[in-house]
Amino acid sequence: MGDNVIPLADLRYAAELPRIPAELVMPSGLLSDRLGRPLRDLRISVTDRCNFRCSYCMPKEVFDRDYRFLPQSSLLSFEEITRVARVFVAHGVRKLRLTGGEPLLRKNLETLVAMLAALRTPEGDELDLTLTTNASLLERKAQALADAGLKRITVSLDALDDAVFRRMNDVDFPVADVLRGIDAALAAGLGPVKVNMVVKRGTNDHEIVPMARYFRDRHGPRVALRFIEYMDVGSTNGWRMDEVLPSAQVLERLSQAFPLEPLEPAQPGETAQRWRYSDGAGEIGVISSVTQAFCRDCNRARLSTEGKLFLCLFATRGHDLRALLRGVQASQQPWTDAQIATAIGLIWSERADRYSELRSAEAPALERGTRRVEMHYIGG
Ligand code: SAM
Ligand code: SF4
Ligand code: SF4
Repeated sequence: MGDNVIPLADLRYAAELPRIPAELVMPSGLLSDRLGRPLRDLRISVTDRCNFRCSYCMPKEVFDRDYRFLPQSSLLSFEEITRVARVFVAHGVRKLRLTGGEPLLRKNLETLVAMLAALRTPEGDELDLTLTTNASLLERKAQALADAGLKRITVSLDALDDAVFRRMNDVDFPVADVLRGIDAALAAGLGPVKVNMVVKRGTNDHEIVPMARYFRDRHGPRVALRFIEYMDVGSTNGWRMDEVLPSAQVLERLSQAFPLEPLEPAQPGETAQRWRYSDGAGEIGVISSVTQAFCRDCNRARLSTEGKLFLCLFATRGHDLRALLRGVQASQQPWTDAQIATAIGLIWSERADRYSELRSAEAPALERGTRRVEMHYIGG
């Protein structure tokens, strides 16, 4: 590697140290950023490792045998994750999503689920606690996760055709195991299950209608299938616009097979546009992150595996919360909850990210070519 090439691993450490607040400000739950957006949703990446090598996320050529994943000591512990989550809840977060990498690879994840499930909002309500998984280990783990207090689950599945699926996960993993994982999640009470399919034109777009038919016929309203536009996240997936199939075309193909009616958004800030089958056999959704940006309502923050806070999926820098939890330098005291809450409040109130909107507008301000954080590191 030449001197002027930054190894990918170094990008992970691009983070700012939050400012030490001069004055403590207690969270009011009414935080809003520079564009007036509240903070409602925290996505927590519990590992940067994965047993799949989906080309749009962790292409084999980059994430190979020599790739340096984070050492165990770098990961936030379950106690640290729970402490940070508690502060976010005080700031208004109502939804926690565990992700990764593949979250089910993190040892004893049920223990973390139980710790997070015990958190309450200031009004005493439970949180919406969910998890996104490739489902390779779900058949084995669904019941334990539900018993620990997980409420719902999202499964990523890009094709029903076994050969197409094996090619897309690039580790020859069979589709039948994922389907059994979905059945197990439903049996454990984790429904309705969301199934996310990333659509790549020319790779799996012929699977759109068969996927819809399978879940409609087998599970009806107990599974909501969502089609996601292939995004230019990270810097390693070689993204090209001509491989994006716009959601409008997904809907066109679906409505030729099944009559559809639009549904109203269930919550503000919802990423999917929802439609129901006219015969009542359930619903589907489309997530148009490329062709129809939804930054205006974006109320999500992301916590990386090693405790960096990212305010946008396309951010190039994070904010180092782990340094606050552990003490900025070995000689210093860890920060108190009140100090961390004040720092997070400041960070969110200065947020102005709206990458997808700028991408759609092709604004010159867009930092094309800048190395962005990778999806497996901050989760989806
Ligand atoms: N490993 C788990 C899984 O695949 O469900 C959780 C982490 S994965 C990074 C979270 C989600 O991001 C998955 O649904 C995946 O399909 C989606 N994703 C990853 N790269 C993407 C891309 N380039 N465009 C759109 N979605 C992507
Ligand atoms: Fe792994 Fe999920 Fe990324 Fe696929 S999308 S490589 S399953 S982290
Ligand atoms: Fe939110 Fe950034 Fe995605 Fe816009 S591009 S919706 S600000 S994460």
